[in-house]
Amino acid sequence: MAENGLIENGETDRASPAVLPSPAKNLPRIYSKIFINNEWHQSVSGKTFAIFNPASGERICDVEEGDKPDVDKAVEAARTAFGHGSPWRTLDTSARGRLLCKWADLIERDRHILATLETMDTGKPFLQSFAIDLEGCIRTLRYYAGWADKIHGKSIPVDDDFVMFTRHEPIGVCGQITPWNFPLLMFIWKVAPALCCGNTVVIKPAEQAPLTALYMGALIKEVPFPPGVVNIVPGYGPTAGAAIACHKDVDKVAFTGSTEVGRSITEAASNSNLKRVTLELGGKNPCIVFADSDLALAVECASQGAFFNQGQCCTAAARIFVEEPIYEEFVRRSVERLKARVVGNPFDPKTDQGPQIDQDQFDKILELIESGKKEGARLECGGRAIGDVGHYIQPTVFSEATDNMRIAREEIFGPVQVIMKFKSTEEVIRRANSSEFGLTAGVFTRNIDRALTVASALQSGTVWVNCYNALHAQAPFGGFKMSGNGREMGEYGLREYTEVKTITIKISRNNH
Ligand code: NAP
Ligand code: MG
Repeated sequence: MAENGLIENGETDRASPAVLPSPAKNLPRIYSKIFINNEWHQSVSGKTFAIFNPASGERICDVEEGDKPDVDKAVEAARTAFGHGSPWRTLDTSARGRLLCKWADLIERDRHILATLETMDTGKPFLQSFAIDLEGCIRTLRYYAGWADKIHGKSIPVDDDFVMFTRHEPIGVCGQITPWNFPLLMFIWKVAPALCCGNTVVIKPAEQAPLTALYMGALIKEVPFPPGVVNIVPGYGPTAGAAIACHKDVDKVAFTGSTEVGRSITEAASNSNLKRVTLELGGKNPCIVFADSDLALAVECASQGAFFNQGQCCTAAARIFVEEPIYEEFVRRSVERLKARVVGNPFDPKTDQGPQIDQDQFDKILELIESGKKEGARLECGGRAIGDVGHYIQPTVFSEATDNMRIAREEIFGPVQVIMKFKSTEEVIRRANSSEFGLTAGVFTRNIDRALTVASALQSGTVWVNCYNALHAQAPFGGFKMSGNGREMGEYGLREYTEVKTITIKISRNNH
């Protein structure tokens, strides 16, 4: 397990502590209202929307449906909390860090509840929610808690007549829009660095899975952060999400999701107040396996890279390029490995793979699988839905795929592995880079020179060598090309939540 709990070095995504954690038997409470100023509100319109469990299709609860008037209220609260002289603005930076630490402690206290809720809401295996998503949340908060009192400006020498220095100030009210594939982890990836730098937040979780984000409202209040510092508005993208993106009093918007919506966020930002924009938009990530690699490791990592989280990952190993001499063996072992993969009830500790998030994603994945068959890729295994309850899809492997097929170009976001063949290093670099995306990449080889040559040639924000999905709170994450703008996490992530102010002081010679 990587430090933040994500997989690396071919370990399975099934957690293996000595005593397995078990789901919470009774959820103490499900939060379903809009969280503004540390209070729970009904939607201005009076509307609600239903939340479903993707494993059973059962309705879990109804959640208040936020829209523009609710976003306006939330932005007003965040603006007031950010006001000059407010409790939040005058809090000393070390105390700000301690609040983030306290929040991490509360998440740790409620870890079983949160992992249970996340699994009910998304269908991801409970042990993954517990060991990977929750671990990532806690580590990220503690990491940024440590930064809160270390965000220094610089003293800049010019000449003896001036003293010049910079302050790294918070930007202001940050609008944040998160996806459903890692609902709680993405919530923390967004909110932790924003608060660490002293901003205030209005966040809209994805409509498919808002329950853990709403639970955060209760913990924010318990810490307590001052009212208005974090405001959570559940609702739909084209209404509540768009209201954030075009709001004239939001200073920055951070978004994770599809390229198409990312484009509309940038447009809305530039048509309103030119707010700062950071985007994380997924990819079609290459994973390159050379003939001299540790084959068992490469098969394991590529498989985890493709199937982790039901394949619903922006980092998914989506185009696996395998060098010709080991191609057949790699495909054989990849298919063999899936025989042990358990698909089913996400609360069963034996389960590796749960259902897809909803009917739309399910239909989209099956349609792309059909396109792979029609365009002539070889279906090695899987390829169909499972049962008629829940959105389950068989783990699917295609071999003999070529670069122009839709399955090799479009983000599938499902349990589908696409394996292609290559002959030379130059060829595979060219093909790996021939994508409009550039988020992550994997390289498997025992030759350090080759690893470094390929790693520097790849156009992607992250390159993993002999590991995959090895994400750490300390490491910047983000995309080249259409995979996004800006970086989240690590020290680099702080830049996206601060403005640099230059203060220049003229020294008077007359007062001596
Ligand atoms: P999406 O529409 O981009 O959703 C991401 C977030 O943006 C959600 O909170 C969504 O709200 C919101 N949103 C939607 N339209 C908006 C708008 N006009 N203005 C502001 N916010 C808006 O993604 P999706 O429809 O859930 O999934 C579609 C595809 O996106 C997937 O198949 C996958 O390829 C990609 N995706 C990528 C990531 C990633 O990690 N990069 C995550 C999820 C999906 P709603 O809840 O109403 O949709
Ligand atoms: Mg959508």
